[in-house]
Amino acid sequence: MLENKFPHVRPTYLPYGRQWIEEEDIAAVIKVLRSDYLTTGPKIEEFEQEVAQYVDTKYAVAFSNGTAALHGACFAAGISDGDEVITTPMTFAASVNCVLYQGGKPVFADIDTRTYNIDPKKIEGKITNKTKAIIPVDFTGQPVELDHILKIAKKHHLVVIEDAAHALGATYKGNKVGSISDLTMFSFHPVKHITSGEGGMITTNNKEYYENLLQFRSHGITRDKDKLKGNHGPWYYEMQFLGYNYRMTDIQAALGTSQLKKLNKFIELRRKYVQMYNEAFQHIDEIVTPFQHEDGDSSWHLYIIRLNLDKLTASRMEIFDALQQQNIGVNVHYIPVHYQPYYQNLGYKKGICPHAEKLFEGMITLPLFPSMSEKDVHSVIEAIKRTIGYYRK
Ligand SMILES: *Cc1c(COP(=O)(O)O)cnc(C)c1O
Repeated sequence: MLENKFPHVRPTYLPYGRQWIEEEDIAAVIKVLRSDYLTTGPKIEEFEQEVAQYVDTKYAVAFSNGTAALHGACFAAGISDGDEVITTPMTFAASVNCVLYQGGKPVFADIDTRTYNIDPKKIEGKITNKTKAIIPVDFTGQPVELDHILKIAKKHHLVVIEDAAHALGATYKGNKVGSISDLTMFSFHPVKHITSGEGGMITTNNKEYYENLLQFRSHGITRDKDKLKGNHGPWYYEMQFLGYNYRMTDIQAALGTSQLKKLNKFIELRRKYVQMYNEAFQHIDEIVTPFQHEDGDSSWHLYIIRLNLDKLTASRMEIFDALQQQNIGVNVHYIPVHYQPYYQNLGYKKGICPHAEKLFEGMITLPLFPSMSEKDVHSVIEAIKRTIGYYRK
């Protein structure tokens, strides 16, 4: 029989992320089920207003999920056939797919080796007369260098669509993420900071974007008298462009609103656990802990360590497996988007973003979510120390 080098450090499996639903969340959902509206009722506007207030922005538009919200943002930004959009390879596929939905062409700029976010210095070299927008991603919850990116955008008349799926509650130079870029997207998928089951939101200070987003979310249809070309009766509406059904339900919005009340507590717990990880790992030479930018305050969606593989006798695969054997639900975020077969078939080659490609090789995501306990955090630390100790050169 194979010797089990890595017995469990805990009796149950610890996932890398998980929602935290409490009785008041359940009660909020049930209340909607008993009400007159299941979808696009009063709960949608309430959720939108709460999020807009939280991030300190004028407008917010809820969507059925974050990906649909990104699609809406690309539409509002006017991205269409042949337009180029500069983004990062170190993200989830949705950040890039949304450009393709509008017929645009994603252009990858490499990442900063410390923050893993898109490197503003790499953006300018990618700008052509076809460039329309930039989609920076606040990877792991750490805000991108917005001042620098917005300056480039202004100079070249580009729209900035910030993918803040990881960054609800993060701040940049004292301002909440969501209030700074032209359009900002949040996701309420269960692993994100707060959940509505599925759900997404765009925040913006631009009224025209706001109105276009509302119409895009519902088939391109409007009933707004100021917008109608004709007027044929009180039942009259017009479909003025091709939109989608990307509406969020009131059921989801009620859950989201209930969760939002607890966001600050959730983030505080995440920060506390990050502190514990950082302290435990700071003297382990085989591990690089996350870099913290002085201009930004991360909301800590993910805690990613990087293995210094030169100092280890094992591959990332072996270390990943060893941690899984110990009941620690490690993960990898993300396979660079241009590695995906679909993007390879579009002609994106490996080698176009050497920093992202190299750093990806050593990345492992450790469990981090507010409903885990300090004991859970200690079990992760124990497993990491044991595994690294075993494979130390
Ligand atoms: C989760 C996520 C999305 C998509 O959000 P959904 O709500 O799952 O559609 C987009 N970008 C990033 C970086 C994400 O992590």
